Amino acid sequence: MTPGPPRHPPVIALRGIEKTYRTGGNVVRALRGMSLAVERGDFVAIMGASGSGKSTLMNIIGCLDVPTRGHFWLDGVDVRSLDEEMLAHLRSRKIGFVFQAFNLIARTTALANVELPLVYAGVRPAARRQRALDALAAVGLAGREDHLPSELSGGQQQRVAIARATVTNPALLLADEPTGNLDSTAQHEVMSMLTKMSLEGRTIVLITHEHDVAQYAKRIVQFRDGQIISDRRAVAVGDPPPLIESHPVEQVASP
Ligand code: ADP
Ligand code: MG
Repeated sequence: MTPGPPRHPPVIALRGIEKTYRTGGNVVRALRGMSLAVERGDFVAIMGASGSGKSTLMNIIGCLDVPTRGHFWLDGVDVRSLDEEMLAHLRSRKIGFVFQAFNLIARTTALANVELPLVYAGVRPAARRQRALDALAAVGLAGREDHLPSELSGGQQQRVAIARATVTNPALLLADEPTGNLDSTAQHEVMSMLTKMSLEGRTIVLITHEHDVAQYAKRIVQFRDGQIISDRRAVAVGDPPPLIESHPVEQVASP
């Protein structure tokens, strides 16, 4: 047998994911059997009406919650096989989060905010300072290292948050409505930065309900009632958008 080309596992592989919430006498089927694979370097926008299950899926992908049924591999690792401590480790090593509300620490500088994940990772002060400086420069904020969040615009604060999310060099960047609190200029500023990260090879999954934000992505996955109803690659203007098959996750399942 000739060996095939070397193959990375997808960064995300979901197969038959269901999530059911039971509260009081109510049963909500937030995810109803969802399969999705995201390859290294892809830039995916997840769209869908409020309540369609976007954040539920994001919480599962971010290892903050577990599915009721189905399988999930993160960077080839079967997440179900991990205990709490290993999960926390995986989360901090493999995933960078960007939130709608920035979630920066108010009374500390941009530099200290970006250094924080490296403090948790045990990186020595000199190295972590240099890496934080580089990450801030990469989002166009060289010279703003000593500013407090309150001294930065919304777009700049979200770029600090992107620097913080990427300074650990995670396999995956997750962003839940990162432009939800921003005006259109700042929205463009932040999306341009995510586009740059994507061109540098980072894998990005973005939740948005705004079509013009989703246009920055390479691929748009549409949710309705806990299911994927379309999965399209971006194409040159004028071409009809092809529907792509969801990837056969079975073939890429972890060993
Ligand atoms: P979206 O992010 O697309 O707006 P969500 O994933 O937040 O949707 O929610 C999907 C469905 O699951 C909704 O009907 C919501 O009310 C329900 N839901 C979400 N989280 C919980 C929870 N912790 N407990 C009970 N129901 C929930
Ligand atoms: Mg949501």
